[in-house]
Amino acid sequence: MDAVPAQTGRGEPAGIAFYRLLIGCHPAEADIGGDHDFDRHVLACILAAAAMDGGLLAERVGVAEHDLNDLLSRHFPQADIRGLGSMQGPAPADDDETIMVRDLLLAQRSTEGDVGYWLAAMVARRAMEPNHLWEDLGLRERPELSRLLMRHFAPLAIRNTKNMRWKRFFYRMLCEDDGFVMCTTPVCTQCNDFDLCFGEESGESRMADRRREFLRGGGDLSEVSARS
Ligand code: SF4
Repeated sequence: MDAVPAQTGRGEPAGIAFYRLLIGCHPAEADIGGDHDFDRHVLACILAAAAMDGGLLAERVGVAEHDLNDLLSRHFPQADIRGLGSMQGPAPADDDETIMVRDLLLAQRSTEGDVGYWLAAMVARRAMEPNHLWEDLGLRERPELSRLLMRHFAPLAIRNTKNMRWKRFFYRMLCEDDGFVMCTTPVCTQCNDFDLCFGEESGESRMADRRREFLRGGGDLSEVSARS
C-alpha cells in the first residue's frame, strides 16, 4: 500500500506535498542558511522520501516509533500529521549492516542533542536503499549530504579527503575500523570497484519537479503554481 498518494489535490508529487506539510513551503523555496533551518529541511526531506516508499514510516526512516513521534512533535509541531496514521507502527529490528553504519556515525558525532542521534539512525537506514545516498535521503543535491555529515559527524566526514561516494566511504571506514569486508585490495587505484567508490553521484532529486527546472531557468514560481 502506498503510504501517500502519488499526486495530491494540488497536483504536486507526493514527496513534495509531504515536505510542504512539514515545512510549509515547496522544497525549492526552503531557506536553509541557518543550522536550525537546515536540520529541519534535512529531517523533512528524509521523512518525505521515506513516505514515498510506502510501508511503516518508522521502519523506512530507521527510528523507533516513539522517537519518530518525538521528532515530529518537537520539530514540526504545526504539521497536521493525523493523516499519517496508517503509516505509523513499531519498526522491526534493524539488520546488522544498518546497525554497523549507525554505530559508525554515532561514534563520531560533532553535535549534541537528539537531531544528530536521529540522523545517525536515519542516514544508516536510508543507506540500505539502492540509489545514491543523497537521493534516498530526499535531499535536493549531494552537497546537502556533505553539509549534513560535516555538521553532525565531522570527525568522520573530514576523513573523506578523496571525495568518495558517501555510502561507499562508510563501508571503507568499516573496512578499516571493524574488519567489514568490502575492499578486495588495500589500495583503491588497483581495485576493480574504483568507479563504484569514486564515480560521480549525479542524479535527480526525489524532491525535484518541473518547478525547480523552471526556477533554474530564471522563471517565476508563481506562474508555474498558477498553471498547476
Ligand atoms: S575502490 Fe576498492 S579498495 Fe578502494 S574503497 Fe572502493 S572497494 Fe575499497
